[in-house]
Amino acid sequence: MGLSRREFFKVGTGSAAALLLGFDARPVLAQAKELKIARTTETRSTCPYCSVSCGVIIHTLGDKAKNVTAQVVHVEGDPDHPINRGTLCPKGASLQQEILNDRRLKKPQVRRPGKTGWEDISWEKAIEEVARHIKKTRDETFVEKNADGKTLNRCEGFAFNGGCTDTNEFNYLVVKAMRSMGVVYMENQARV
Ligand code: SF4
Repeated sequence: MGLSRREFFKVGTGSAAALLLGFDARPVLAQAKELKIARTTETRSTCPYCSVSCGVIIHTLGDKAKNVTAQVVHVEGDPDHPINRGTLCPKGASLQQEILNDRRLKKPQVRRPGKTGWEDISWEKAIEEVARHIKKTRDETFVEKNADGKTLNRCEGFAFNGGCTDTNEFNYLVVKAMRSMGVVYMENQARV
């Protein structure tokens, strides 16, 4: 059977080889993909890589028991998502490799003044340290009035920077919390 270059790339190398041998492997390949996700749980999420914030579906295997960690077996674009409608760029399409990565950080880290390395700390310690730094910095940098005596009530001593998976609801709370302390510098990667 003859196959043009365009047809070769259209059907993929595996299917092309099968077509050249005289049979069509496409239904088999489609079924193999179906089998891979047949018993999975679908969880909708957001690609964390850039501010486009494409929607993804994460497929996990596991019986949902509390002592069992669900295993991610497949990540694909969410066809119902208004931003990407099922498509993903190559970076987003490799998201599974970020989730199943030995180098992924799973706990807070801090780099102490003068140190070059990062130190693992507990969530409790991280929250306590962040709160202490916020209080100290705000006390030291809060500006109540300007030189003309006009009320400012602002704090320029620290900023808040969020990520692209932060939801509208989360960002609403961030703005409320930060503005209540007078913080003026706030930014995040996207607004989903
Ligand atoms: S899939 Fe690509 S374009 Fe979409 S959010 Fe991820 S990195 Fe950005």
